Amino acid sequence: MAALPGLTPGTLPPGTAGLRARVREFLAETPFTARCDSWLTGADPAFSRLLGERGWLGMTLPERYGGHGRSPLERFVVIEELLAAGAPVGAHWIADRQTGPSILAHGTEEQKRRFLPAIARGECFFAIGMSEPDSGSDLASVRTRAEREADGWRLHGTKVWTSGAHLAHAILVLARSAPRSQDRHAGLTQFIVPLPDDRVAIRPIRGLSGGHHFNEVALDGVFVPDGLVLGRPGDGWRQVTAELAYERSGPERLLSTFLLIRLLSGRAADPGARRALGGLTARLWALRQASLAVAGALARGETPELAAALVKDLGTRFEREVIEAAREHAGVEPDPGSPDPLARALAESVVQAPGFTLRGGTNEILRGIVARGLGVR
Ligand SMILES: Cc1cc2nc3c(=O)[nH]c(=O)nc-3n(C[C@H](O)[C@H](O)[C@H](O)COP(=O)(O)OP(=O)(O)OC[C@H]3O[C@@H](n4cnc5c(N)ncnc54)[C@H](O)[C@@H]3O)c2cc1C
Repeated sequence: MAALPGLTPGTLPPGTAGLRARVREFLAETPFTARCDSWLTGADPAFSRLLGERGWLGMTLPERYGGHGRSPLERFVVIEELLAAGAPVGAHWIADRQTGPSILAHGTEEQKRRFLPAIARGECFFAIGMSEPDSGSDLASVRTRAEREADGWRLHGTKVWTSGAHLAHAILVLARSAPRSQDRHAGLTQFIVPLPDDRVAIRPIRGLSGGHHFNEVALDGVFVPDGLVLGRPGDGWRQVTAELAYERSGPERLLSTFLLIRLLSGRAADPGARRALGGLTARLWALRQASLAVAGALARGETPELAAALVKDLGTRFEREVIEAAREHAGVEPDPGSPDPLARALAESVVQAPGFTLRGGTNEILRGIVARGLGVR
């Protein structure tokens, strides 16, 4: 049977075993508190800077922009290890994963020189300003508007669920820069808005547990000079669609709850728990191969949108099933204040789980992409 496009089995290049060992060594000697879903909720700017010093941020960016000229598969190894350890990678995650590559692809020379070296040092964090109160799945309906001025644009509107905006040095805002026409994807533009700014109000939206990782961001006429438009005005739709391919298929879509598997495997004494762990491990391995295949396709310059959607749909459902298995077999109740790391990890994962299948595009939307790609819709 022919492999699905973008799912050609991938292998890691020689040399990555040494890289993996170096990351593990760093993690073993660096103090941090491991947590579930650490790529969203585990923000530690000092930890990000340590990764930057070791060359593990901006890995795929060219050296002339402060990056390291490494392949997406080498980056895969590094982030897989960081996620498996539950390391606090949330502060730089968005900049390293998607804004950096987006600026490299669409930015001006000046933008590349200004932002990319700082991203690679772990000194410039970005937020994604796509979703709005009435516009999530249907991004083309965004209502934030960009009004033309002599040498730039003025933005008005509200973004919501903006992860990490309170820590970010800039937000990449998707806004309507021309009136809606029959082509609803036309007339959208991406703007880089440096933070903080007096005309940008960042208000926390607290989660069930009181935790703060996402925000409402109100843009009250903030001015963006022409030099901070990303790409060509009107090309925003094409750019965000490409950005989402990076966002959807990485190991973070499988490993948000991996800490639970690790902690549980140290305790699984009875046969039922061992069977459950065996089943989860086998599925995780298959999903990991699929995620690796997508990373390989990205490395070859392909845009495996369908395969990325499939990995995210299956991976995020797997992450939730890990929680169910852990609740059944852990023998402890979720407790955020417990001295027991398993009880804490359970509590963290239970409150974060509702977001797994929503963030980055809901699973219903992803299935629509898969159906279209297979020609059945
Ligand atoms: C933890 C977390 C972090 C986030 N971080 C960010 C961020 O940093 N930046 C950002 O811009 N956004 C962020 N988001 C927002 C996220 O991208 C949106 O929540 C998501 O795209 C869904 O949009 P919505 O919430 O408006 O739901 P809606 O689009 O209103 O969807 C509601 C329901 O209807 C279903 N639905 C909608 N349209 C269709 C359709 N055509 N076919 C079938 N079903 C459909 C959806 O699947 C969903 O179940 C984050 C969300 C979460 C949970």
